[in-house]
Amino acid sequence: MNITVMGTGYVGLTVGTCLAELGNTVTCVDIDKKKIGGLNKGIIPIYEPGLAELVRRNVEKERLAFTTDSAEAIASGEVIFIAVGTPPGKDERADLRYVLAAAKEIGQKINGYKVIVTKSTVPVGTGDLVADTIRQHRKTAIDFDVVSNPEFLREGEAVNDFLNPDRIVVGTTSERARKAMEKLYAGIVRANKPILFTDVRTSEMIKYASNAMLATRISFMNEIAQLCEKVGADVKDIARGMGLDGRIGPRFLQAGAGYGGSCFPKDVKALMRTMQDNGMPGLILDAVEKVNEMQKHSIVPKVKQLVPHLKGKTIAVWGLAFKPKTDDMREAPSLIVIPALQKEGASVRAYDPEAEKVATSLFSDVAYFKTPYGALKDADCLVVLTEWNEFREIDKEKMKSLLKEPNIVDGRNVYAMSQMREMGFNYIGVGRGNGNRN
Ligand code: NAD
Repeated sequence: MNITVMGTGYVGLTVGTCLAELGNTVTCVDIDKKKIGGLNKGIIPIYEPGLAELVRRNVEKERLAFTTDSAEAIASGEVIFIAVGTPPGKDERADLRYVLAAAKEIGQKINGYKVIVTKSTVPVGTGDLVADTIRQHRKTAIDFDVVSNPEFLREGEAVNDFLNPDRIVVGTTSERARKAMEKLYAGIVRANKPILFTDVRTSEMIKYASNAMLATRISFMNEIAQLCEKVGADVKDIARGMGLDGRIGPRFLQAGAGYGGSCFPKDVKALMRTMQDNGMPGLILDAVEKVNEMQKHSIVPKVKQLVPHLKGKTIAVWGLAFKPKTDDMREAPSLIVIPALQKEGASVRAYDPEAEKVATSLFSDVAYFKTPYGALKDADCLVVLTEWNEFREIDKEKMKSLLKEPNIVDGRNVYAMSQMREMGFNYIGVGRGNGNRN
């Protein structure tokens, strides 16, 4: 099929490239000339495992192209994905200006029946706004359908998640659009990983409800972790004990330094606003958000338990990205922790396998190192903020010899507490209140 993807960010680039890999002819459009110029030279604007190779292969096979010319791309697409950003607006509602600008362009340039697919995460009712906008701007009464098809990929696992999704959700009541979407996803759907067809509004809500549920699990466990620290219990064992219950399951039960990224924080806030717009207080999501903020702010007090006076001290920070396998720092705990350490008078030595470039544009007064060991040298304490695998397999004796004091605040519970303490580290994790367990 001929596919057009409007917006070539994390989602648009991944979706477009994977659909090309499945044999479609895909044109990815973006208004960012630099990004498109770079992609046309083979420069991938984000770090995402496996994506660069897939882009190269599909460009070579002439199934994938990048352009800023939306007119031609819209005219040629049978299915047009809108995958532009929906950042939080001033009032924390999703800012729909990019989605509606894309819809306007589609309206102006539509030249025959097309399926318009909203891939961006959009509040319930946006499908109707997109359809109204296209109708307003089309020159003749050309027929089209607006379909909701939210994306569930995770940064760091984007390619695999798109090609092996747990489910594909499609919101449409049009039989014609349903057939087009079935054809599009035929190469991905498996018997146990179905396409769920529903109406547009329900589909829009499934995306927000899913993200909000995952964020709720994290905040719930972080609040349990806070209690563990007070009463002498271990949140890691609690997560294991809970996760073995088939009704609960083991995933998204890890306490840590709080969730971040481009999705959970903004989607939780946007869903809460939608509730409030509909006369509901949004009690659960309000608490989810508050606990998450508390958690991000709980790291520096832990550092101060080990290094009470931070003025003039040096703190090593491992992990700047909001999670492993990405260089994305949007809403990352490091954005709260580093300025708070600096405010107390500490200097920061940082290491992240991928996010250094992004971090440099955010923090000029941090010293960056090419290895985790480099960042440790003569530091008074190490703070772990992202659970990159290379931190798990690290040489702990070397860690100890490099640190000025063997102090660790493990904001992701990466290490076995008993082992670290036996080795002579002053170790504080998250929710590890009993002091002597794994
Ligand atoms: P992004 O900011 O990385 O990319 C958005 C792109 O759209 C930018 O390159 C921008 O220049 C471009 N753009 C804006 N207006 C345009 C227009 N009129 N025409 C063409 N291009 C235009 O955003 P993202 O992370 O890819 O997210 C896109 C959407 O997908 C959001 O709604 C997000 O919530 C959702 N989503 C994101 C993820 C994720 O992990 N990043 C996962 C699932 C869903």
